[in-house]
Amino acid sequence: MSDKNRTEIDQMGEFGLIDHITRDVKIHHSNTVKGIGDDAAVIDCGDDYMVVSTDMLLEGIHFDLSFMPLQHLGYKAIAVNVSDIAAMNALPEQVTVSIAVTNRFSVEAIDMIYQGINAACKNYNVDLVGGDTTSSRSGLVISVTATGRVAKDKIAYRSGAKKDDIICMSGDVGAAYMGLQVLLREKKVFEADPNMQPKLDDYEYIVGRQLRPEARTDFIHDFRELGIVPTSMIDVSDGVASEILHLCKASNVGAVIYEQKIPVDQRTFDAAHEFNIPSVTPGLNGGEDYELLFTISQDDYKKVEKNPNIYFIGYVDEEPNSARMVTVGEQIVPLSAQGFKHF
Ligand code: ADP
Ligand code: MG
Repeated sequence: MSDKNRTEIDQMGEFGLIDHITRDVKIHHSNTVKGIGDDAAVIDCGDDYMVVSTDMLLEGIHFDLSFMPLQHLGYKAIAVNVSDIAAMNALPEQVTVSIAVTNRFSVEAIDMIYQGINAACKNYNVDLVGGDTTSSRSGLVISVTATGRVAKDKIAYRSGAKKDDIICMSGDVGAAYMGLQVLLREKKVFEADPNMQPKLDDYEYIVGRQLRPEARTDFIHDFRELGIVPTSMIDVSDGVASEILHLCKASNVGAVIYEQKIPVDQRTFDAAHEFNIPSVTPGLNGGEDYELLFTISQDDYKKVEKNPNIYFIGYVDEEPNSARMVTVGEQIVPLSAQGFKHF
């Protein structure tokens, strides 16, 4: 192909590329209820729906082994996949784990990754049922596929948000992003002078949120107990702005959120201040929080309005594809998705 016809991947971005490569995909089986486009695919398996999701973690792109302990890496690889299962209002059941390793890794090192994988499987009550093992020439790759199950009347897609629904979150955001900034800074200090020991004690919370995220399966149990089915749901892997826009696009609605209501921990605020990052940026445009962002109908609001574990951050309106934020200074600004740039 001549250079004239060459399209650079970064012109399209991650989401544009996914749209591009999946544009000719067709569904042939009637039990494929939902294919590409949500946190997990949905398959009719009789009484229930089975949901399936896959995610890949690459050394140098998604993790840096100079500060990512191997056990935590194994744990995180499972947690991020379970998070996509939870985002469908489903509970996880099985995972397969595929790894590609270079000869830089010893068996003991791989054992450590599996200690984390096994701990996460135990914690989320999932069975490790298969995978693949291969060698790699450039760095470690871990790819996980997870399945889950949900009653048909409880499935939550990205596409069900309706006008006047309340936009909710399961926990605070931005901490994982600020944790990463601290880790990257300490790495630089260490590289400049290997005698310097990283100072992480003051940043335990945010660094922990980066290195050992949890999937919010506890919320899926809570929804059952409260008798609530979110009208739409997504997990926050790329920052709240990007995820709200996904919900708006899939649901063909608009959204208004309030900067003041976005849950950000004081320790995240403090770190953002220290790094001269606007305090709203980590939550809106950071990533890897793995909290759930969901909408509930006005009728269900009564069931949760006093629930201290749910944060109400805004509401859904009719304007298709338009997400706006009311700032602390009461200005209205459009939300734009920065997401995570992998290309
Ligand atoms: P998430 O952030 O929830 O993991 P992604 O943004 O990675 O979701 O993916 C969005 C949708 O695109 C999902 O349905 C996913 O399965 C699908 N997808 C991503 N990459 C590919 C690919 N290479 N081929 C087919 N489908 C893909
Ligand atoms: Mg997701």
